[in-house]
Amino acid sequence: SIQPLLPVTGAELAVPLVTGDTRRYVNLDYAASAPCLQGVADHVAEILPYYASVHRGAGFASQVSTRLVEGARTTVKRFLGARDDDVVIFTRNTTDSLNLLAGCLPPDGDVVVLDIEHHADLLPWPEDRRRTVSAAPTLDATLRRVEHELARRPAALLAVTGASNVTGEQLPVGQLARIAHRHGARISVDAAQLAPHRRIDLIAAEIDYLAFSGHKLYAPWGAGVLVGRRDWLDAGTPYLAGGGAVRQVTLDHTAWAPAPARHEAGSPNVIGIAALAKACDVIASLPDGALETHESALRDRLKQGLGALPGVELHRIWPDSSSAVGIVCFSVVGFHPGFVAAYLSAEHGIGVRDGKFCAHPLAGRFGQPAGALRASVGLGTSSADVDRLLAALQELVQHGVRWSYGEIDGKCIP
Ligand code: PMP
Repeated sequence: SIQPLLPVTGAELAVPLVTGDTRRYVNLDYAASAPCLQGVADHVAEILPYYASVHRGAGFASQVSTRLVEGARTTVKRFLGARDDDVVIFTRNTTDSLNLLAGCLPPDGDVVVLDIEHHADLLPWPEDRRRTVSAAPTLDATLRRVEHELARRPAALLAVTGASNVTGEQLPVGQLARIAHRHGARISVDAAQLAPHRRIDLIAAEIDYLAFSGHKLYAPWGAGVLVGRRDWLDAGTPYLAGGGAVRQVTLDHTAWAPAPARHEAGSPNVIGIAALAKACDVIASLPDGALETHESALRDRLKQGLGALPGVELHRIWPDSSSAVGIVCFSVVGFHPGFVAAYLSAEHGIGVRDGKFCAHPLAGRFGQPAGALRASVGLGTSSADVDRLLAALQELVQHGVRWSYGEIDGKCIP
């Protein structure tokens, strides 16, 4: 059996079932928000008394809070193998980070994207400068299409996901970076799903910009990161106007500060930032390969178990993409995904995600108007969790349901 790799909060949570019983909650929705690492929760409890205003405060607690925020930049850089002169900007989440980057694009520069992206890596780019490449039937052919598009007409940026939030399939970001650079473009990586699952090395992979969210990295206090090359970030329009983002202000002139301050006006999310940095340190302290081994064993168990169930279809983008993070996308033939998700929660205490996963163009490829189902695992997942899902689905396809379900406000409930 596979045990959790690290303790997370809520692991023994008991939830009410429609039957009147309670059961241990099985969270198979790590890809949406991962539970908090116990080490992160402990750290937050420790630092909370020192929570205070940063930068401008002179008191002891302000000094501690300032050190936490500034130290977090160094931690994030170490976690990502960033260049010394890369800038770390703290944001609310990946969506925020990519919108910030979109405001720093060189004027008139195009952005090339794939059509498999999460909306957060599709919608922030200016529509009149966004060129979408449709994923081809194989990963290799997709890379060739990307290269062809960049060669056809110059672009400022190639924006790609590190791993699909729908299927977990990884993109070869190092290879894509070389393709982008060969054609004079930079690359940004939406690492919302990659950072929690794989070691990242910005220097080795030649990645120019990267974004991720704390809440998917076991630090649910609402902080995110944008890291990358200074020149665009120093030249870009300040993301938020206000205190802290300026060098000097008169009534008719504002001298903006360079990045990161330029984009971080207002009081920062000290606790969120410190929690995110702690999560980076805890994950980085795992032995080499431990995270990958744990997650791929769980993912294989999920895939094999689901594949063996009659009427369960697994979805993926490419037949030839070998690496994937701990996400599996599937449908149960004849059952609406919203219904299956409601059944799993109400009758079995299992949390999965259903729908189109904020990636409508990709979910549309799987041929179901209501989307599909997604189970995702992580550091706190055990093989018992996976087996609970498999048993519940087995019961569904064999015996159907015992409760009747209705729809309220578009949500399926018993
Ligand atoms: N990109 C990917 C690949 C994601 O999975 C998500 C979250 N589902 C996002 C971006 C957006 O993350 P957030 O909601 O934290 O901004």
